[in-house]
Amino acid sequence: MTLLTTSPAEISANVGLDADTLKMMLQAIKDFVTHAMSDERQLELDHEDVCPVDIVRGMSSEQLGIHLVFIPEECSGMGGGTIDVYRVCEQMGRLDLGLATSVLATFLGSDPIYMGATPDQKRMWLTEIAEQGLIYAYGATEPEAGSDLGAIKTTATPVVEDGKITGYRLNGRKQWISNGGIADKYTILAMAPGGPTWFVMDRNSEGFTPAKPEDKHGIRLSNTAALFLDDVFVPAENLIGLVEGQGLVQAQKVFGYTRLMVASFGLGGGWSALDRAIPYSESRIAAGAPLSTKQGYTHKLIVPHVIRLEAARSYIEYTARRIDAGEGEDGALNTEGAIAKYMATEAGNTAAEAAIQAHGGYGYTREYLVEKIKRDVRITTIYEGTSEIMEMTIARDRWQQNLKSSGHYYPEIAAELRALHARQPDVGAEAAALACQALGIALEACRAGRLTRNQHVLFRLGELIAYAECAGSFATRAAAALDKALPDKSDQRFDPAALAAMSRVFAREAAHKVAYDGLRWVIGAGTGTDMTPFEASLGLDAVNAAQVGLIADMDSVADALYGRA
Ligand SMILES: Cc1cc2nc3c(=O)[nH]c(=O)nc-3n(C[C@H](O)[C@H](O)[C@H](O)COP(=O)(O)OP(=O)(O)OC[C@H]3O[C@@H](n4cnc5c(N)ncnc54)[C@H](O)[C@@H]3O)c2cc1C
Repeated sequence: MTLLTTSPAEISANVGLDADTLKMMLQAIKDFVTHAMSDERQLELDHEDVCPVDIVRGMSSEQLGIHLVFIPEECSGMGGGTIDVYRVCEQMGRLDLGLATSVLATFLGSDPIYMGATPDQKRMWLTEIAEQGLIYAYGATEPEAGSDLGAIKTTATPVVEDGKITGYRLNGRKQWISNGGIADKYTILAMAPGGPTWFVMDRNSEGFTPAKPEDKHGIRLSNTAALFLDDVFVPAENLIGLVEGQGLVQAQKVFGYTRLMVASFGLGGGWSALDRAIPYSESRIAAGAPLSTKQGYTHKLIVPHVIRLEAARSYIEYTARRIDAGEGEDGALNTEGAIAKYMATEAGNTAAEAAIQAHGGYGYTREYLVEKIKRDVRITTIYEGTSEIMEMTIARDRWQQNLKSSGHYYPEIAAELRALHARQPDVGAEAAALACQALGIALEACRAGRLTRNQHVLFRLGELIAYAECAGSFATRAAAALDKALPDKSDQRFDPAALAAMSRVFAREAAHKVAYDGLRWVIGAGTGTDMTPFEASLGLDAVNAAQVGLIADMDSVADALYGRA
């Protein structure tokens, strides 16, 4: 069984592209997009609210072939693994999140096929995407059903001829559908007599009308449109899996994977904003010296955001590797996908916000692009499950695991982290252990006091869980880097010493957050009885003591970022 502290090299995930092919693909994506679209053109398209359909199609043609990464080899694709998909999505997120969304939408659209179709359907539809570069759209959301997909109202009424179902008539409306106005095919979730069911629908089906594109806050290069379905006929063989009522299960099965894709967008978007702020701060002189030399600037606007993004990356890599090792079957890693998405998209969003501030007045104008990136990355905390739904998913699942283990779940992870610390004392594993220890105690206090009857407490626990687990995965990644055991396809931007310093800073933050926020919510939701024993058990002294060296570590992260000795 994979533990949070299992070294990445020991998670057998030898699937997908080889490291050189992945590297070439990442470079080809960058070359293709930057050649097809200068910064000026990107700003123009954003301003005019235009989806560059030619570029979207070009990406999934022989010009680039990005779509092949997502399709299995037996269906004429390249059979990329989850690690490959994360790296590709991060790269797309760095270049333009609108274009990235278009690519994502095709693979969200085909995911119900991947997960739920019969082998023949799968071969037919996925091969068609591989060979023809078809654009798909994923039609789940409705005006009154987003987070709660069980509330969909679109209906699928069987058409019966000679006692046999020959097809279905779809009626309803879908809302906020990426690629909605430009797709060749659509996967539509509709309520059949047997329950929610996915259908593949052709663009030119009679009775189908896409609405005009939405006028959005960001990702304005992505086409988002409502879909009107007015008695649209789909043949019975277009029911994915040929059995009604499997739709929500099929949608659930892929969340671990699809949420990693959006997590990678958050990572890419956040990094692309910081990668503009970092050089800007080296050239901008204030009070006689570059901003990059000013601790009050770097330690607020750059360093913590780099660290949170890299903490999230650690969790993305950990989850992707486990999915590639076959642990993600039937939605088994949906909670991990939720943690990755939550941490990476929240970090990406705050990083982009900080990058505007880091550019001062220039950041507030369009020219420096960080303003656009900030608007673009904002969507990542909303689509594919909002941050609040992620908090709920994380908290509910881990709550159950904690109950099942009679409260031992996090104390056991804390013990693993202490063992890691004993072997590798420089990666923040001890502080990460303090976070997990305090988390276990807070969960137990919530159980004893029945405090999760307050939804807010439950959701805040979701956040604390995500921080504690990310701290554990970061310490594990930093230890692997020090051991020279990071797999080839992992991101290699930082050297082991820089990663270790980042991990130490993040682990301190996690320990402090879990202990002090945990204390606050338990006391805040409690009945006012004496909380001294609970407070004493949280290990606040140790958490405080762990903060020693924080500023020095932030200094060394800044030095690594700015290439200072
Ligand atoms: C640009 C864009 C592209 C999109 N692309 C697609 C697509 O391609 N295909 C598709 O099917 N959908 C797509 N969506 C829809 C997207 O996934 C939904 O908007 C999202 O899941 C949220 O649903 P909602 O908008 O109905 O908000 P709601 O579910 O109404 O949520 C509103 C707020 O309430 C909170 N909330 C919801 N439920 C609860 C609860 N039980 N407890 C506490 N708080 C709660 C949410 O976190 C949020 O803050 C897209 C949306 C946008 C904006």
